[in-house]
Amino acid sequence: MAEETVVVRASAKTRLRRRLRFLRTRVRELKMIGKALVSTKHPILVHVIPMRQCNLACTYCNEFDDFSKPVPQEEMKKRLDLLADMGTSIITISGGEPLMHPELDEVIRHMRRRGMIAGLITNGFYLNRERIERLNEAGLEHLQISIDNVVPDEVSKKSLKTLDGRLVMLSQYAEFQVNINSVLGSGVKDPEDALKIAHRAVQLGFTSTVGIIHDNNGQLKPLGQHEQEIFEEVMALGKRSFSRFNEFQHNVARGKEHNWRCRSGSRYLYICEDGLVHWCSQQRGYPGIPLAQYTPEMRLREYSTQKFCAARCTVSCVQQVGILDNWRDPQNLKPMPMTPPAAPQAELVQIGQVRGDS
Ligand code: SF4
Ligand code: SF4
Repeated sequence: MAEETVVVRASAKTRLRRRLRFLRTRVRELKMIGKALVSTKHPILVHVIPMRQCNLACTYCNEFDDFSKPVPQEEMKKRLDLLADMGTSIITISGGEPLMHPELDEVIRHMRRRGMIAGLITNGFYLNRERIERLNEAGLEHLQISIDNVVPDEVSKKSLKTLDGRLVMLSQYAEFQVNINSVLGSGVKDPEDALKIAHRAVQLGFTSTVGIIHDNNGQLKPLGQHEQEIFEEVMALGKRSFSRFNEFQHNVARGKEHNWRCRSGSRYLYICEDGLVHWCSQQRGYPGIPLAQYTPEMRLREYSTQKFCAARCTVSCVQQVGILDNWRDPQNLKPMPMTPPAAPQAELVQIGQVRGDS
């Protein structure tokens, strides 16, 4: 029997606990949407980086190194407290590879203690039964793994072949929701892989989304006809996911510019390992201000700032956050780096559509 056909049913106890956690998280998500519609003054989603180092080296990725140390747990907690005090609804831990952080469970526990929805993006290589059960116990609510191909190649080792055993373990032991993101675009050899990955995700009871890589100097480029057909098929398979509401991804697939209001720096924040606030992973350096010095006035300014990269943006999570505010408050300010004179100027990184989201 081929490895990818293995399906192991979770125990009745795990299924019950999974169901209860799903319902609790869904109630919290509905509250999050209600709060976001009533007020524009708090961040809806924040990505934090506790670990820049990664155990892999995908050739398209600009978000990892092979040397940096984990951010100390106490420092992570301080950052989470600042975000909780701002009224942040959801925190997603990203990297690098966050599972390399030795105290990640305590970081997740702190997020939950402070009332925020807890998510994790990982390449999955460190998952085993014991680690999954620790994540259950810490209170994790969402986990996402991106899988780039069916068989590892020189671009990426994040393959169905290398990860399938870990996916089976997740289907058996995880009490949190699991999403598998498959990938299409110019860096991917065989577009059919995305479909195989999405089918496997659904077979194991996970949600499935599809991401698009553009590595041609950041230019938005339409997918080919065959890739577009696969894209639509994977989107249809992922119908349990929030992304089905998102016209943005269809525009990206067709290479069409889109008209929206990016609220990064305000409703979405990216906090790097040095504790600086950035618009997003692909626009590091704007505004590049330490989180502890990031005031409500600065967030308000970014809320009203038109982002020069919006029309060709492929960062889907920020777009999904944007849906909650696209209908109101046109943006009329120009970007302005706001690093205070005393703080070191963060290196500006504008990388277009190169991607590295584990
Ligand atoms: S790349 Fe996209 S998410 Fe990032 S700042 Fe630009 S428009 Fe916003
Ligand atoms: S894409 Fe993810 S797994 Fe690959 S090198 Fe970047 S951070 Fe590591």
